[in-house]
Amino acid sequence: MDTMVLEPVDQTECLSRKATELGIRYFMVSFVDLLGQQRAKLVPVAAIDGMHRDGAGFAGFAAYFDMQPSDPDMLAMPDPDSLIQLPWKPEVGWLASDLVMGGQPVAQAPRNTLKRVLAQAGSLGYTMKTGVECEFFLVTPQGNAIGDIADVAPKPCYDASALMRRYDIITEICDAMLTLGWQPYQNDHEDANGQFEMNWRYADALTTADRHVFFKFMVRSIAEKHGLRATFMPKPFAHLTGSGCHAHISLWSGDDNVCAAPADALGLSPLGYGFLGGLMSNAGALCALLNPTVNSYKRINAPVTLSGATWSPNAVTYSGDNRTHMIRVPGGGRFELRLADGSVNPYLLQAAILAAGLDGLESGHHPGEPLHINMYTDGHMAKDATRLPLNLLDALRAFESSTALRDRLGAEFVGGYLRLKYLEWNDFSRHLTEWERARTLDC
Ligand SMILES: [Mg+2]
Repeated sequence: MDTMVLEPVDQTECLSRKATELGIRYFMVSFVDLLGQQRAKLVPVAAIDGMHRDGAGFAGFAAYFDMQPSDPDMLAMPDPDSLIQLPWKPEVGWLASDLVMGGQPVAQAPRNTLKRVLAQAGSLGYTMKTGVECEFFLVTPQGNAIGDIADVAPKPCYDASALMRRYDIITEICDAMLTLGWQPYQNDHEDANGQFEMNWRYADALTTADRHVFFKFMVRSIAEKHGLRATFMPKPFAHLTGSGCHAHISLWSGDDNVCAAPADALGLSPLGYGFLGGLMSNAGALCALLNPTVNSYKRINAPVTLSGATWSPNAVTYSGDNRTHMIRVPGGGRFELRLADGSVNPYLLQAAILAAGLDGLESGHHPGEPLHINMYTDGHMAKDATRLPLNLLDALRAFESSTALRDRLGAEFVGGYLRLKYLEWNDFSRHLTEWERARTLDC
């Protein structure tokens, strides 16, 4: 699909020299498409300097982009700062790339979209720092059952034995993060049977997004090595808690966390409340990006699960250190957005949060008073609270009508994303289910 002529280049910081130092034989020149799938070409060291200079060619239509087969080559320009030697296969170096077409950045590309919103924040003097909490299930290779037949406890969160039965996989991933300098600090069995979470330290939004992409790839690869399959699917089992991707967010000006105000009841500054207000006023539209799959809506708005709580929101509310709300403010000048799920595109997660937050700062959306109720038992008392979309179509329509997000994320990105997602919804809608047959056969 590409006819690029590659010639070695002499650069001080050239990737081939790095490869010799590190013992790398191949590079994965990778990018993430609009639907969050990672795509890559495996490039031998002998060709990497040419790829670094000219880019690796891809047919955009062959991945999930709003493109045509007749479009010219899309070039993936590897970012040398993103280089990660695969801990489970050190002869391979992974590189995140920025997509270019016709000499211009591809406007709909997720990493470019994040960089665009980061530049808007940068022009106001802000950087965003985030940490993500990626929950995932370890299932059988077929994907239809939990990988550990003994993992059946009705309240399995923090189950010590179930955690230790997965010691080899969890520690291989955690050791990898230690080696990579991500500063991982805890690993646990989560609230659903077969579900785990591993945490590493927060960083600037682009670094976190690149790591988030790599983390998913790494967890899948290492699980596969151990004969299992890792899934970040939001709700793989209807009766169990789903997989969220909670984000801990703070906004900085240089070394100052501008969300922090120790004297405030929740520890947030007016600017922090403004950012939070933007997340709340845009929540319905944000779901199109943060809860991007048909399956996502079986996690939010879910009925009570086997463990007794879904741990996912159903309404647009915030609170202090209370996990039953969409946003939790645990103190220390940060807040936790509990909306996104495991299917979120790592770049679009960061881009969407920042776009909504900047809108909050600009338009002065105030989130109102926090709610201190248990939303799982007393949610009906929050009568004025906006409810989250009940399905992907509602979220896509909310996103389509959001000028605030379109202005910040870019019309070309929003248009391309919506076209692909409406196609996905239409495809789903045409799918005949067993539920329909059971309810309608004898109508
Ligand atoms: Mg968790």
